Amino acid sequence: MLEKILIANRGEIALRVLRACRELGIKTVAVHSSADNNLKHVLLADETVCIGPPASTESYLNMPAIISAAEVTDAVGIHPGYGFLSENADFAERVEESGFTFIGPPASAIRLMGDKVSAIKAMKAAGVPCVPGSDGPLGDDTDENIRLAREIGYPIIIKASGGGGGRGMRVVHSEANLTSAITVTKAEARAAFDNDVVYMEKFLEAPRHVEFQLLADGQGNAIHLGERDCSMQRRHQKVVEEAPAPGITQEQRDRIGARCVNACLEIGYRSAGTFEFLYENGEFYFIEMNTRLQVEHPVTEMITGVDLVREQLRIASGEKLSIKQEDVKIQGHSIECRINAEDPKTFMPSPGMVNLYHAPGGPGVRVETHLYSGYRVPPFYDSMIGKLITHGQDRDAAFARMKNALSEMVVEGIKTNIPLHQEIFQHAAFQQGGTDIHYLEKRLGLT
Ligand code: ADP
Repeated sequence: MLEKILIANRGEIALRVLRACRELGIKTVAVHSSADNNLKHVLLADETVCIGPPASTESYLNMPAIISAAEVTDAVGIHPGYGFLSENADFAERVEESGFTFIGPPASAIRLMGDKVSAIKAMKAAGVPCVPGSDGPLGDDTDENIRLAREIGYPIIIKASGGGGGRGMRVVHSEANLTSAITVTKAEARAAFDNDVVYMEKFLEAPRHVEFQLLADGQGNAIHLGERDCSMQRRHQKVVEEAPAPGITQEQRDRIGARCVNACLEIGYRSAGTFEFLYENGEFYFIEMNTRLQVEHPVTEMITGVDLVREQLRIASGEKLSIKQEDVKIQGHSIECRINAEDPKTFMPSPGMVNLYHAPGGPGVRVETHLYSGYRVPPFYDSMIGKLITHGQDRDAAFARMKNALSEMVVEGIKTNIPLHQEIFQHAAFQQGGTDIHYLEKRLGLT
């Protein structure tokens, strides 16, 4: 097992990784910005290194500072968490070239899946169902592009191959707007991602977001851990996630899961990864792969009993997967609410001093947060301050526990989106399950 690892992240996920390390007897190095001296995991880590000023570009995204911190502390591995450098192939490469273990996939897999055109090509070859589309970059031949769009059928969406975070996409409803939309998306993609490759896909009008969790050991073994539904979104940001996805059958789970397993083996994948699909009218359409641990990983852990971070650490230590596909059993239902420091109505960030924090509890309640009374939420980073997760024997039980837990959770001094969650859990449509990705924005009157 790796002896000592550096955690290149902050907040709840850094604490999550630290806890998994402690269980496995792995020593920890917490790196942090000068605004983050009081982060919970920094207070608990075996060693700490301040890597720069508050701005992420100078601290959590500062590759030389992170690698130097690993050198001076004799860490042997680096866990990137999610966000920041977790999907940066150059970082993964530099970590390995400097003699450390990157606790994640090979740089080649990050690079392949980070480019959407190459990712779709690889997925098609592996038998993963994709959105009908251009099967590659769009050229400059206007007539050919018009022909292609007609064949796919409007509405279509033009997407940047190098895009991310919901940027670099444009929906086209009719032929009159096609050519200009391609030109504009190309120009935007060149400016934003330094890559003007764009492609065309059928635009699905009311899909759900359903994603599959995968684990691979890079030694010929891969398994899937079922799916999650993350359709409750605002501005492409997930707000509530659950597992399993309502209405997905065991046959669908086995079939799509097996395709994802096959894809992992084909691309030489290692560690945890997620295949994201749009799901409409009973069909799955691959949109992208996230080559890292995800915010919503706990709902999968709750229904499978598999500790994903522990598996990542074991795999990075050179061990084989400890679970076989036939050992993966889905038990009950789990839901996660992302708790953000923000105004529940305007969504304006609300950093500041947490005067009082009380965690909810009881059977089937899990809290992933770095909050404590007297902690000051800095204004420099993402507003997510924690996750509230419940598990129950079925969806109704998990819902009832979530409503209880939300009402018990006390965060004073800053505003949080807890009232928004309380409102969402009263919605009849959500209680029924299977709402699409536009549901929340429509319901909140944001579209
Ligand atoms: P990013 O890497 O920027 O997150 P994705 O390809 O994952 O880009 O797409 C982000 C979101 O855009 C999806 O979750 C979905 O809401 C929407 N989207 C992307 N492709 C399509 C499509 N073909 N039809 C409908 N919506 C789409």
